[in-house]
Amino acid sequence: MNLRSFCPYCQQDMDLTFDWPLEAPQCPHCQKNVFQNATDLFSHNKKLDQCPLCGASHLFKRKDFNQKLGIGLIVLGVLGAYFTYGLSLLLVTLMDWFLFRRVGELGSCYQCKAEFRDSPLLESLTPFDLEISDYYRNLVGKDN
Ligand SMILES: [Zn+2]
Ligand SMILES: [Zn+2]
Repeated sequence: MNLRSFCPYCQQDMDLTFDWPLEAPQCPHCQKNVFQNATDLFSHNKKLDQCPLCGASHLFKRKDFNQKLGIGLIVLGVLGAYFTYGLSLLLVTLMDWFLFRRVGELGSCYQCKAEFRDSPLLESLTPFDLEISDYYRNLVGKDN
């Protein structure tokens, strides 16, 4: 499984790849065990029941689609439409659709936004839910 997130201790970007049996993955910058919140189910039964980084019990899955690339394509299509009599719009729509179909799924934590990739565990996650997302956003808001 691959994890992309910020280290909860030194706040630096981490890109970790780990596998089971799980050996406390370390931050490449500060060498701390970043899975302080890994549950027994996660460590031993490979179940992503809560975020091993921050302990939030809600994670979601979504298409691993590069939104910036998608938006960039649409901008290109709109700009090009003038010269191609609208043909470029059709083209970028097709490309968007093609890219979207090809991408895999990623799992993400509602609270710390950690991103998990390359694991069959992600299948068990539920799709993004705006209400849960709002709940976590409000939690963060109260802290400030
Ligand atoms: Zn660190
Ligand atoms: Zn988290």
